[in-house]
Amino acid sequence: MKIICVGRNYVEHAKELQNEIPTEPVIFMKAPTTLLKSEEALYYPEFTKDLHYEGELVVKIAKNGKKIQEKFAHKYYSELSLGFDFTARDLQNQLKSKGLPWELSKSFDGAASVGTFLPKENIIDENGHYNFKIYKNNTQVQEGNTAMMLFSIDKIISFISQFITLQQGDLIYTGTPAGVGALKVGDELIGKINEQIVIKTVIK
Ligand code: MG
Repeated sequence: MKIICVGRNYVEHAKELQNEIPTEPVIFMKAPTTLLKSEEALYYPEFTKDLHYEGELVVKIAKNGKKIQEKFAHKYYSELSLGFDFTARDLQNQLKSKGLPWELSKSFDGAASVGTFLPKENIIDENGHYNFKIYKNNTQVQEGNTAMMLFSIDKIISFISQFITLQQGDLIYTGTPAGVGALKVGDELIGKINEQIVIKTVIK
C-alpha cells in the first residue's frame, strides 16, 4: 500500500507558504508506517519545534491501474475520507532551502492520519464536488471544496498513473487548503465531510 500526496493543490495555501503556483501536480510519498487510524494519537516528534497539520481529502484507490485516462479516472475510486498530512515545518524548510527531498519532514512515524471512508455518492454535492472542514480545539481552521483545487481528483489519478502504477488500497492525499498551522501537545483535530465527523487526531 502506497501513500501518495499532492502538494500545493490549492492556490491560497501555496501562497501562504510563499510557494509558486504549480503548472502540474507536485507529488511526494509517505511510508506506510506513517499511517494512523482515526482516534489514534500522534506523539509530538522530538526532532521538530514546528509540527503542522494539513487537513486533506483522501482518496482510496479501488482497483489497479496504470496510464489511466482522466475521463476514466472516476472508475478507480469509490470512497473518500479526510486525513492529516503532518509536517515538521522547520525541518521541511531546512530541506527545501538546500534543494533536498523533504521526506524526513513528512514521512516520520504517524505523519499521516486517516479517517473513516465514505461512499462518494453519499457525500458529493449538487455541483459534483466534495466539501470538508477542519477544526482545531473546536475552532474551524480550514475549509476545502474540490472546486478550489488546481488539479481535480481525476486529473491527479491520471497524472500519477502515468508514472506509478496505482494499486487497490493506495491512498492519495489531495492537498490542503489555506489555514495550516502549528500544533502543541494536547491539541485535538477533527475533520468533517459535510457535517459528519470522519476523523479525530489528538496530539500527545
Ligand atoms: Mg499536504
